[in-house]
Amino acid sequence: MEDDIQKKAYGNTMGLDAVCVHGHFYQPPREDPLSGLIPDEAGAAPYQNWNERIHAECYRPNSVLGNFQKISFNIGPTLFKWMETYDPVTCDAIISQERNNYAQYGVGNGMAQPYNHVILPLANKRDKITQIKWGIADFEHRFGHQPLGMWLPETAVDLETLAYLADNKIQFTILAPWQVELTDGQTEDQPYLVELPGNRDPMTVFLYNRNLSTMVSFVSESTRNAEYFVNQALEPIFTAPNGTHNRITLIASDGEVYGHHKSFRDKFLSYLLNGALHQSDLEITYPGLWLLNNPPKSFAKLSEYTSWSCHHGVVRWMGECDCTLGANWKGPLRWGLEKLAEALDHQYQVYMRRYTRRIWQLRNAYIHVLLGQMDLHGLLGQFIGDSLTKTEVDKIGMLLAAQYERQRIFTSCGWFFEHFHRIEPQNNIAYAAQAVWLTRQVTGVDLKPQALALLRKVKDQRTGLRGDTVFAERYLRSKDFSEEDISYFNPSSSFST
Ligand SMILES: [Zn+2]
Repeated sequence: MEDDIQKKAYGNTMGLDAVCVHGHFYQPPREDPLSGLIPDEAGAAPYQNWNERIHAECYRPNSVLGNFQKISFNIGPTLFKWMETYDPVTCDAIISQERNNYAQYGVGNGMAQPYNHVILPLANKRDKITQIKWGIADFEHRFGHQPLGMWLPETAVDLETLAYLADNKIQFTILAPWQVELTDGQTEDQPYLVELPGNRDPMTVFLYNRNLSTMVSFVSESTRNAEYFVNQALEPIFTAPNGTHNRITLIASDGEVYGHHKSFRDKFLSYLLNGALHQSDLEITYPGLWLLNNPPKSFAKLSEYTSWSCHHGVVRWMGECDCTLGANWKGPLRWGLEKLAEALDHQYQVYMRRYTRRIWQLRNAYIHVLLGQMDLHGLLGQFIGDSLTKTEVDKIGMLLAAQYERQRIFTSCGWFFEHFHRIEPQNNIAYAAQAVWLTRQVTGVDLKPQALALLRKVKDQRTGLRGDTVFAERYLRSKDFSEEDISYFNPSSSFST
C-alpha cells in the first residue's frame, strides 16, 4: 500500500504535479467537565451523542478503508482522547496507518494540533506556548515520533504563533490562500517561507486550493464520482503549462466531510486515492514528503489575524462579524473569560511561588500527567523535589487541574456560532466554574463574585439566557460533586485531608 504514495515526488522528478488531501478531524468537546461524560444528544439518534454518530459515519469507516495512510491529517487531541476510550481499535488503526508512512519515508503524514482548539492569535503568549507544547506532546505520545507540521485551529495565525511553532521544531503549517500576500509570479500551488521575528529560521506555509476545497466541502455533486472529480475539477488545473517548478495542489477541509457531513464521501475519498488518481498523471503526496525534495525558496508575507473559516479575520471569536450578526454576547464572553483567566493565573502564581519559580514550565509539563506518562508525584519531584507532603501534592494537583480547565475555557467552538444558548459556550463557562471552584478549595480565595460580575453582560439574543446564570448553576454542580469522581487531575489519591 505504501508504494502507492507517490514515488515521483520522493524521487524528485522535475515538473511534477501532485495532489494532497488534508482532513482536519475535530469535534467540539461535549464532555461534562465534572463527570467527563457526554450528555445524551437527541439529534444524534440512533447514537447516544454526536461523537458516537460521527465516529460511526466518518472516523471508523475512513480508518477501515485505509484513508488515513494516504491523506495529510490532524486529529484534535481532545477528540483523540475520547476516541481512544470509545474505540481503541480505530484509534490504533489510524496511528499505524500514519506510522507506515513514517517507517517508509522517514516523515509522517500526521500533523499536530494545539491541544484545546484555541484561537492562538487571541491567546496570550503563555497560553500560546502551552497549547503548542501540549499539542506536540499529545502527538508524540500517540504516534511515537515528532510532528513536522501543526494545523492551527481555524488556521488562525499571527507571527508570534508561527514563531512559537518554530521554537518547538515545527516546520510547516497549512493556510488558506488569502492568509498570505503573494507577489507577481507566485502561485498558490507552492509552499512559501514566512520570515519570523528574532533569529529564527523561517516557517514554511502550504496554501490550499480554494475552489477545490470549497467543492469538496460544500458542492455535493462534485464529489459523487471520483473519476468525474479528477477529470472535471482536478485535471483542468494542471492543463496550464508547467514551468520549471513542481506543483502541489492541496485540498483541505474538515475531515468529517468524508462520511458524516456528506454520506459515502469516505468511499469517494478511497476511490479517489486508490483508483481515480492512478488513472491520471497526478501523484499523491503530503506536505512532509513533498518538502523532502521541494524545499520552498521564495518568501511570502503573512496576513496576520486571519483564518480559514471566516473572512472577517479573528473577529468572529471575539465579537460580532457579518457571519454572526447580532451576536453581541461574544465580546462580553471573551472579555469576561480573559479577565477571569488573569485572576486564576494570579492565584496560581501567588500559591505556587513558594515552591518553584518555574510555574509555567510546570504547567507545560503537566501534559505528561494528563497523558498518563508520569504521575503527579514524579512531575513535582522534577520541579520541586521530594519534600512535599501528601496534602501539598494533592493541592498542587488541584491547582494544575484548574489550569487545565483554564485552557479549556478558550475552546474556539464557544464563539463560533451565532447564539450563546447552545452547548459550546455554556461548556466554556462550565470549565471556568470548575477552575474557580478548584482554586477556592486550594487557596481559600473565592473568585465566584468576580466571575458572576464579569459574565453578567453575556446574554443570548433570543432566549435571554445569561452567562452569570450559567456560571452560578455550573458552580453549584462543582460544589456538590464528589472529589473522588474527578478523573483527570490525577493526584496519588483523593485530596481529602
Ligand atoms: Zn465572519
